[in-house]
Amino acid sequence: METQDKGFNTRLIHAGAFEDAYGSATVPIYQSSTFKFKSARHGADCFSGKSDGFIYTRIGNPTIRALEQNIASLENGRDGIATSSGMGAITSVYMALLGSGSHIISSDAVYGPARGVLEQDFSRFGVEATFVNTSHLDQIVDAIRPNTRLLYIETPANPTMELTDIAACAKIARDNKLILVVDNTFCSPYLQKPLDLGADVVLHSVTKFINGHADIVGGVIVSNTPELCRKIRHCMVYMGCNMDPTQAFMVLRGVKTLAIRIERAQENAMQVAEFLQQHPKVSWVRYPGLKSHPQYALAEKQMAGFGSMMSFGLHGGYQAGEKLMNHVHLALLAVSLGGVETLIQHPASMTHAGISPENKLAAGITDDLVRLSVGIEDVGDIIADLESGLHNV
Ligand SMILES: *Cc1c(COP(=O)(O)O)cnc(C)c1O
Repeated sequence: METQDKGFNTRLIHAGAFEDAYGSATVPIYQSSTFKFKSARHGADCFSGKSDGFIYTRIGNPTIRALEQNIASLENGRDGIATSSGMGAITSVYMALLGSGSHIISSDAVYGPARGVLEQDFSRFGVEATFVNTSHLDQIVDAIRPNTRLLYIETPANPTMELTDIAACAKIARDNKLILVVDNTFCSPYLQKPLDLGADVVLHSVTKFINGHADIVGGVIVSNTPELCRKIRHCMVYMGCNMDPTQAFMVLRGVKTLAIRIERAQENAMQVAEFLQQHPKVSWVRYPGLKSHPQYALAEKQMAGFGSMMSFGLHGGYQAGEKLMNHVHLALLAVSLGGVETLIQHPASMTHAGISPENKLAAGITDDLVRLSVGIEDVGDIIADLESGLHNV
């Protein structure tokens, strides 16, 4: 069915799906590594691109293709490229669009391994990287060099919940001939559509909101520019960062409920944020839906809702953070985010423990900071769990 003229909720369910020989209601798992050609001519046409038949699963597969077209449709993009993980998406984009002697400007609060792979690995191949606070546009402009190729942003940032103005970054990118890449993992296309705001490439760890059930890892890249799609797919296929058909099936299943999951989670998140804001042991709460968020106006402008991610600070600092982790029971003490279950973690002692004190400070990761991904459980139970945890801090 053609779905481009249909609404977002309809596309969640139907975009990318195709009719098979049996009239399957859902896209089946094509768990096949290779595909038989009808003739020598057909095989030749598949390789030359004259026919869009499938060849080999690292290059393409019907189940994976359905997911790629589904997410591309949700992001209002032309084509999608599915990858084995979010990091597979990020490294494929870097590999395709950076080269020896080129320079990338990225956010200092970017997903840790997305920074680490630039500093530790791409640097060995002559790629230069500068990390700035992309919430301050002047810092981006000041970092531009003649060899800058990419501007890479994540908004809201993890775990500081600071926002970056996507449309303003798109203008800077256009004026300076940079490619703007947005990691849209924290929002999903339900809340934010970077391509509509002028970004060139949008990518996701579908491990998080898009799949939403904490049972697979995966990534997807979407662009509107055929040349960028071609280059990125080429690198993904050569590096073997492809998704697996079963993974794609799981994500196709998860994405169908994206809208209703996010609606419930952000309803819960608003109540949790309001509870935390008035709690005497909590020193600050950063949630884009609170009027106290310094970029509340930008959140209203570029997001269709405020999401379910937040961070907050404890008066008792590092030790209070550790104590709270040991006294919650419903919230899972775990990394990752965007699932149906509430997750809590303490970045200073966990995800960001390996970062130097200067870089931690620059990225706004203070010792008292707790990160919360609010799930779709009964909100009364989530708040009661946090209340009893805080009582022990
Ligand atoms: C988790 C995450 C990634 C990495 O994704 P994986 O699927 O774990 O490889 C990238 N960006 C953001 C914002 C993430 O939260």
